[in-house]
Order: sequence, then structure tokens, then C-alpha cells
Amino acid sequence: MKHPLPFEEISPWVEAPEDPQPPLASDLRADVVVVGGGYTGLSTALSLRAQGADVVLLEQGFAGSGASGRNAGHLTPTIGKDIPTLLRFFGRERAAGLVRFADVAVEATEEVIRKHGIECEYRASGNIMAGVHRKHEARLRTAAGRAAELGAQVRFLDEGEMRERGLPAAFRSGVLEERGGTLHPGRYVMGLRRAALAAGVRLFESSALIALDEGPKVTARTSRGSVEAANVVLATNAYTPATGRHKRRVAPLRVSLFETEPLGEAQLAELGWRGREGIYTAHETLESFRLTERNTIVGGSKVVRYAWGSGLAPGYDPPAFRAIEGAFRERFPTLADLPIAHFWGGWIGLTLDFLPTLGVGGAHRNLFFGLGYAGHGVAQATLMGAMLAERIQGREHEHEVALRRRELSWPPEPLRWLGAKLIINALTALDRRTDRQVRSALRDGTGPGERA
Ligand SMILES: Cc1cc2nc3c(=O)[nH]c(=O)nc-3n(C[C@H](O)[C@H](O)[C@H](O)COP(=O)(O)OP(=O)(O)OC[C@H]3O[C@@H](n4cnc5c(N)ncnc54)[C@H](O)[C@@H]3O)c2cc1C
Repeated sequence: MKHPLPFEEISPWVEAPEDPQPPLASDLRADVVVVGGGYTGLSTALSLRAQGADVVLLEQGFAGSGASGRNAGHLTPTIGKDIPTLLRFFGRERAAGLVRFADVAVEATEEVIRKHGIECEYRASGNIMAGVHRKHEARLRTAAGRAAELGAQVRFLDEGEMRERGLPAAFRSGVLEERGGTLHPGRYVMGLRRAALAAGVRLFESSALIALDEGPKVTARTSRGSVEAANVVLATNAYTPATGRHKRRVAPLRVSLFETEPLGEAQLAELGWRGREGIYTAHETLESFRLTERNTIVGGSKVVRYAWGSGLAPGYDPPAFRAIEGAFRERFPTLADLPIAHFWGGWIGLTLDFLPTLGVGGAHRNLFFGLGYAGHGVAQATLMGAMLAERIQGREHEHEVALRRRELSWPPEPLRWLGAKLIINALTALDRRTDRQVRSALRDGTGPGERA
């Protein structure tokens, strides 16, 4: 369908692969059947194969067509809502364990990229959570201090240091996360897909799971075939409620992104941003921006949508696209004429405490799942795969303990929809207020935040 705005159904990062794998059309047996071919599922399958297991992976589209092929590509050690919230809920020791988990997730991803020789334009530039108004500064300084005390490699950057780094002027202060950076998410997931095929994972695409028959062995059914296995892994993250499972555990939120046309040499020189750090803002619902290796800017977020019953909110969303373009124009006034080449979006999986969950269910304890990365899954989902593989082999990964907690449950509908609406509206109102303050300070010529 032709849309007035330049819309991509999946994203500009990925295209359907040249070697599509066949749909499942027979009845098979395997040691493990993995459902979902994103970072979680592919990384689980690879780790299991490395331990000699016979693995079948079922993917409803093509592997990489979910969030793993749509995201913004910030590889970050971000965990939970924020560090002060983690401290409040979990105390010092547990929060430090979570910070360590998030660091290890970045290291594990770097190791996977290296081990499989995945050319995904990874740049270890770090990421900056940036304040756009003076009122953000104290909050960021405190958060940086707390995070450093817990062992995170972060540093507060004041306005002078932000300017020294050549960061665009709208970003006034920040917390530099030194670990991680940015990558090409499509090349990363396609690299995992290639590695999984090379390792002997039996991948079936266009093969949606439609039923799971539980028992000492599980049978995963698609419309034309089935796989009987000792264990199943649900690696469907935000799509999981649509399979009828874990509705109280995870909810899908729709997030939108854009990519500009490439910047010219003069525009790049004027912009500065020499270190090409990933940037996300200290808004309640963050804005994200990054430079790609093709010298475009990818950005967005800012607007999230929840659909009744944890359905998948529609993709073509002009109000969201206008809002993310508007934020880009405000933060990058020198690029007022740079056209937007693409809009797209995907679904993130949110648990109520913003932390990922690994678990096993079913009467026979053979239904494994790993999900709920709250929009930070590039690193976390990769590590989750290694953790799931360990669990299936009857061992426990040394960092799994960090994720063990009493989980909070999403309420049933209509409360879930009402609650999500109320929270999203309240956070949006706070962000609008911040943006108005930034605008009015700019109009007065005092610079964002001089009149906090
Ligand atoms: C717009 C956007 C921006 C983001 N930006 C970032 C970022 O910059 N940094 C970061 O760390 N994270 C980011 N994320 C989050 C990150 O992309 C995800 O956390 C991560 O990709 C989750 O990986 P996954 O494998 O668990 O899920 P997915 O990649 O979503 O994979 C799940 C797969 O399951 C398949 N599936 C679903 N149902 C079935 C079924 N019934 N049968 C078979 N297959 C099924 C889907 O087709 C899909 O391919 C972003 C997400 C979005 C949407």
C-alpha cells in the first residue's frame, strides 16, 4: 500500500534474505525447538548447537523481521528504568548485580560479533544519555554518581565537555556510558542468522507457531507441520502475548523511528559529533539519535503506543512520525532541510519493572522463555540466548541470579489498557512541558534551561 509518508513495513536495515528457508511441512523431532528468530532465538540456537544439541528454529516471517531487524542499533549497558529506581526497588547489592549483568551483556555481544566475524559496523563509541534542559543536569549528575558507585563505567559530562566533544548544541549535559556504542542492527541479526545456518540449526521461515502440545515432550505445531522436542524456547518477546502466553508478564509497545537522507560533507563538518556517540535524551520517554556509517541520522522513539489486549499497535502512525521528525528538527536546527528518507517502527516488550525475565514453565518444566528487554535488547537478548542454553542443559549462567526477583504482573484488561494510557499520557505531558521550556528559553535567547 502506498502511504503519503515514506514508510517501511519492516525497516531500511533489512530485506527478505536471498536464501529464504522453507516453511515447516513435515513432522520432525529435535532436542530443542526455538520459536522466534531474533537476537534471543538465534543466540539461544547458536549456543545450544555449540553444545551439540539438535535445534529446530521456527520463525513466522524471516529471521530478523522482528524488533531485531528494526531497532536503532544502540548497544548499551542500560538496565531497568534508571539507576536510582533500581536502587530504590532492589537495594545496593542487587542493583550492582543488575549493572554487572548489563555490562556483561555488552561484552557478550561484542564477543559474539567477533567470534562469528559479523560485519555489522560496530563502533565502540559509547552512548550518552543527554539533558536538553538545565533541569536535567542535576538528575543526570546524581544518576552518574550512583551508577559509578555500583560499578558502571559511566561519567557525567558537563556542558563544557559536551561542547569539547563537538556534540550538537541541543544536548547540554550527559551521562556517558563508556561501554558499547552503535551497530547496524540488520547486519547483526542477519550475521547471527548466517552463523546459525552454518552451525546446523534447522531454520524454518514463514512458519508461525500455532499450538504447543505440552507433555514430557513438547510438540510445536505450525499450519503444515510439527516438531516434537524435549524442550521449547519461546523467544518471541513483544509478540509473546499474541501467542496467547505470558500476557501478565510482558506487554508490547509500539515505537517509531526515522532515517534521514545522508548528510553532505559540509553538513557533517558543521554538525561536529566527531565521536559519533549514540545519544538518547533524559526525557521520560526518550528521544534517540545516532549517526550511521552511511552518514544518515537514525532517530525517534519519543512516542509509544499500547493496543488493547496487548495487540500489536499498527505500524503506519503519522502522528508519531510527525512527532519524531519534530523532535529531530528541534535538536538539529542546522539540518532543517535534510529530508527524512524512511519511517518505520516495531514493538518492544515491556515488563512492569523494566527488567528482562528468564523462566521455565509447564507441568514438565520444559517451556522456557526469555523476554522483556524494555527497548534495550540488542545486548540483553544476546546474553539471554547464552543463559537460556545453559538453563536447558541443567546449569545456571553465573549472571542469571541478577534477574531473579518477584515479578510484577500486568493487570488484566481493561485495567491494563487504562493504566498504560494514563501512564503514557502523564509521561507525554511531562515531556511536552520540558520541550516547551526548551523552546521558550531558545526564543528568549537565554539558551535551554537558563530559566529552569
Ligand atoms: C523501534 C525499536 C527501536 C529499538 N532500539 C533499540 C536500541 O537502540 N538498542 C537496544 O538495545 N534495543 C533496542 N530495541 C529493542 C530490541 O530491538 C529488542 O529488545 C530485541 O530485538 C529483542 O529481540 P528478540 O529476539 O527477543 O525479539 P524479536 O527480534 O522481536 O524476535 C521475535 C521473533 O519472533 C517471531 N515470532 C513471533 N510470533 C511467532 C510465532 N507465533 N511463531 C514463530 N515466530 C514468531 C517474530 O516474527 C520475531 O522475528 C528497539 C526496539 C524497537 C522496536
